[in-house]
Amino acid sequence: LLTISDVWKTYGDSSVLNGISFHVNEGERVVIIGPSGCGKSTMLRCLNGLEEIQKGSIMLRRSNINSPAKDGKNIQQKIGMVFQNYELFPHLTILENITLAPRKVEHKRKWDAEKEALEYLKRIGLEGREHDYPRQLSGGQKQRVAIIRALCMHPEVMLFDEVTASLDPEMVHEVLQLLLELAKQNVTMVIVTHEMEFAKAVADRIIFMDEGIIVEQGTAKELFDTPKKERTKRFLKTFK
Ligand code: ATP
Ligand code: MG
Repeated sequence: LLTISDVWKTYGDSSVLNGISFHVNEGERVVIIGPSGCGKSTMLRCLNGLEEIQKGSIMLRRSNINSPAKDGKNIQQKIGMVFQNYELFPHLTILENITLAPRKVEHKRKWDAEKEALEYLKRIGLEGREHDYPRQLSGGQKQRVAIIRALCMHPEVMLFDEVTASLDPEMVHEVLQLLLELAKQNVTMVIVTHEMEFAKAVADRIIFMDEGIIVEQGTAKELFDTPKKERTKRFLKTFK
């Protein structure tokens, strides 16, 4: 579904991605782990066309995400992304936040967009809160709204960048639970996380990155139980 081939990315003189290649199959859950500053967020931003790359290609089916002729809007519709800091619009209600893009970009009718939004809100236990504003929700609730807002665009792939990193510990669980539910429904996901237990539970494959390269990848069992590279072992030790 998503093919990343030899991607290089630099900011001025500093080289952040140094030849990254991997593939994401339809319905697959790929988790990216690695030390701070190794390029995980940059990789995800490249995947949905937010960053230009200097070399290589990123293909979603047959369309090149980084070709000059790309239809930026179109790609961002097909690849949904949720960040660490839920970026809900503070002046819009929950319902307006969720239905804005489906109506503007997908040209959905108000009623259809709202119907779907309300179904999702029910699923995450926020039935009846649709006319509240983001400030009236907890961090975990806001983050779950940000996730369903991305889902309502029906993307082919969902990217998650440390979606629990700015949450209080007691709210982390409910957000990870929602991601696990999506995983069960075979939503294709690329997830960056520091939550190793969650990574084990959700991943079909884990990629360990360091200094802009993929050091090693494998199933959770392979990577956690029998890491092959010294760098991987050293990194995993910090979580024990
Ligand atoms: P963390 O786990 O802390 O989120 P990360 O793996 O997501 O780290 P990135 O945010 O991708 O790391 O950053 C990789 C490197 O690229 C860092 O050295 C960072 O300073 C640099 N970098 C990121 N964004 C920019 C930018 N817009 N301009 C210049 N340098 C940048
Ligand atoms: Mg990051």
